[in-house]
Amino acid sequence: MQLRYLIDLTMEEYIEQKAWEHAELDHCPFHPEGGCGLARHGTYPRKFPEYCLVPRWYCPGAHRTISLLPDFFASRFPGTLDEIEDAVNTAGSCKSQEEAAFVLRPEISLPSGLRWLRRRIQYVKEALTILVGLFVTECAPDLESFRKKLGTNRVLSKLREIAREYLPSMPPFVGFGPRSAKRYCRLGSSNN
Ligand SMILES: [Zn+2]
Repeated sequence: MQLRYLIDLTMEEYIEQKAWEHAELDHCPFHPEGGCGLARHGTYPRKFPEYCLVPRWYCPGAHRTISLLPDFFASRFPGTLDEIEDAVNTAGSCKSQEEAAFVLRPEISLPSGLRWLRRRIQYVKEALTILVGLFVTECAPDLESFRKKLGTNRVLSKLREIAREYLPSMPPFVGFGPRSAKRYCRLGSSNN
């Protein structure tokens, strides 16, 4: 499972300070009362946009690993929340998705670039739609509306904070849950 690594660092600062080495997990999310043998379990690498490490723990009681993801990273997806937000913003300011795909990913083929872009547009839309339903009422599920509503140019990072209670069941990139609600239900029932 993933949890937020509550540090106020940019990715550059995170790398420079090797912040993964200083991370601490106070208690096991599965056993808040303790006694389960929770122990540090190394790190795993994130390769984009820069190589760095994410700290990880293991709970022998639950047979689960727990990692602490810094807020600037997208969950279950390469790259940062800011990069994804920039890509979706670029798509909004171009005449077409084709043009945006070419501007953003000139080094790959147009069909690949379009897939790359549409996946980002779709997941951002999903996250914003869920959040509108949860609590940001009177707001359209698009970045422009959220920028105005929240008064920030970094909407996705801000949502990680605002939606913190819902992250385990929200889809990536903001949330730490599986990709679709359907899959989430199926996973839940197979564990019972
Ligand atoms: Zn535990």
